[in-house]
Amino acid sequence: MPFPCSVRLGHWLTRYVRWPRAVYRQVTSALLVLAALLVVARPATGAEFTIFQGTQYPLRVYILEGAKPGPTVMVQGGIQGDEIAGFLTAQQLTHAKLDNGRLIIIPRANVPSIHKRQRQINVDLNRRFDRDYNEFYEDHLARAIRFFLAQADAFIHLHEGSGFYNPVWVDNLRNPRRYGQSIIIDTPVFENRIFLANYVNSVLDRLNQPITTADFRFRLFSTDTFRPDSPHAEQLKSLTCYALKNRSIPAFAIEVSKDIVQVEWKVSQQLRATVLLLEQFGLHLQVADQDTLVEQARIVAPVLRVGTQSVGSTRPAPLKLLSYEPLALTAEDLGLTNAQVKAGAAGAVGVFASDRPEINLLETPRLPLMPFRALEVRADGTTLASIPVEWAGTWPKAEHGQTPWFVCWHNGSLRIIPAGRTLEAVVGDQLVLEGIHGGKDEVLNLKGFIANRTLNDGQDSGPEIILDPSMFLQHWLVPTDKPDEWLCRVARETPGQSRDEFFIRIVPRRLKALVLQADDGRRIVLDWRAGEATLLASGRYTLAEAWSNGARDKLLALAGQTPLPWGDSFELKSGERLELSLRQMTTFSPISSMTLISETPAQSKAPAQSEMLGDNS
Ligand SMILES: [Zn+2]
Repeated sequence: MPFPCSVRLGHWLTRYVRWPRAVYRQVTSALLVLAALLVVARPATGAEFTIFQGTQYPLRVYILEGAKPGPTVMVQGGIQGDEIAGFLTAQQLTHAKLDNGRLIIIPRANVPSIHKRQRQINVDLNRRFDRDYNEFYEDHLARAIRFFLAQADAFIHLHEGSGFYNPVWVDNLRNPRRYGQSIIIDTPVFENRIFLANYVNSVLDRLNQPITTADFRFRLFSTDTFRPDSPHAEQLKSLTCYALKNRSIPAFAIEVSKDIVQVEWKVSQQLRATVLLLEQFGLHLQVADQDTLVEQARIVAPVLRVGTQSVGSTRPAPLKLLSYEPLALTAEDLGLTNAQVKAGAAGAVGVFASDRPEINLLETPRLPLMPFRALEVRADGTTLASIPVEWAGTWPKAEHGQTPWFVCWHNGSLRIIPAGRTLEAVVGDQLVLEGIHGGKDEVLNLKGFIANRTLNDGQDSGPEIILDPSMFLQHWLVPTDKPDEWLCRVARETPGQSRDEFFIRIVPRRLKALVLQADDGRRIVLDWRAGEATLLASGRYTLAEAWSNGARDKLLALAGQTPLPWGDSFELKSGERLELSLRQMTTFSPISSMTLISETPAQSKAPAQSEMLGDNS
């Protein structure tokens, strides 16, 4: 079957020019802004949702459905934030039209690393798949990625490597240690049943046929991961190896080269390679014409709105901020609509204060207790604007000898806590320590939590902390007489200041009921009995509310294997059963589940135990 992809490649290839580095950088930035701000249509059929919503590491997942049956394939980009082509290719793929089967696309697996345009933040996410780690946000991402991978019959990982892979040593850029322009497999044949090399060999000719520059042709690269003397033993920890070894599905990494300057060319070729491999798996699709997409692009200079002020990105005037004025920004403050953000049109967008470059203010609010220089607006790691900040108002001074007041954000709400008091929290809550009212350069240490492994200076003020005691060093927890609660201390360790502290009590999430709304308007209170089954009339239900001891938005519901955002609906088909499950939104750890069984007509004469008529709110 001919290549169905309608991407036009000719003019990129025939007149390829290697641009000087400086030009490259400008062009790259411009292209990224272009790519970032493409005005795009949402996929025709399928679903989109965000796992880890409201955290610093949101994971956007797209599921495309074809009309006809076929395999499920997962494609992922952006696991390492400096591999740009990978996430642009994956994003492009979200606009494909699928003839058959199902495509699970995660374009940007590691958003914090994309914001910083660096390979990793705490640890290399692509080295966290050999077991279930639980130390960093990267491990939560790995957990969710494994969950989606479990639904796939094949996996393609999009990367960007250095140089040009060559099985023999040619020079420093072309040799067996380079990864660029290759399709990587862990072994030619896995357990005598998955013929990875065959898949690749059957696409290479067609893939390379229009590529005239010899270096830029793709090569098959087997890392021979399982060989005892493999020079690539670290691949045992990678996601492709996990897919192959633990899930027994064919898995490939498509690497384009960091040493090819034209991002658009790389994206178009990586997309072709992906489409060709998908065909090998029996999944047929049409991808959008890239030229058309670029034509639709609008370079939008961001305008940042804070309160009543608007500041443009070209020669920005200083933004006047008041001391102690909460900064809670949304994508709309950047002139982006919700629909654009949801469609991924803007890529990973962020606003960062110069003194806390790791916290995206679009996801987590802040109360500045100390002045900072500037606010930086970034899209997919490209700086779109750096806006100087001018401070007004007064900075309070702490009164000597008075009880200090700790300032923090708990699930996005500002909390002021006097020393000695206790903050009540639920497992999975989000906490950001700001500092101390009137204090200056305070060091706040949540004992047992390590914000930065390489520089463990005890400073936990600033970063996002997920209150999951299983991630904390246990010997720092304050002993309690209750087996199912944890008490931890936040200690003031500012040199020369009094030793004060406050406590955080963390209790498990307890769920009393889920409130469903039936299509006829009835509200049904589903008593939550973990692990049990309940009868329910078949039909469509909206997930309306949770009766629980914590914030609803820190709960992630799933209907079967599909995330079910609050306010969305699911269908219980006649004669079927459906598992309704809940996970922690911030860590993706399972909480509990129930099975819904559709009532047969005879059973439906008696109301289900969990059914109540009318509005209970
Ligand atoms: Zn990579």
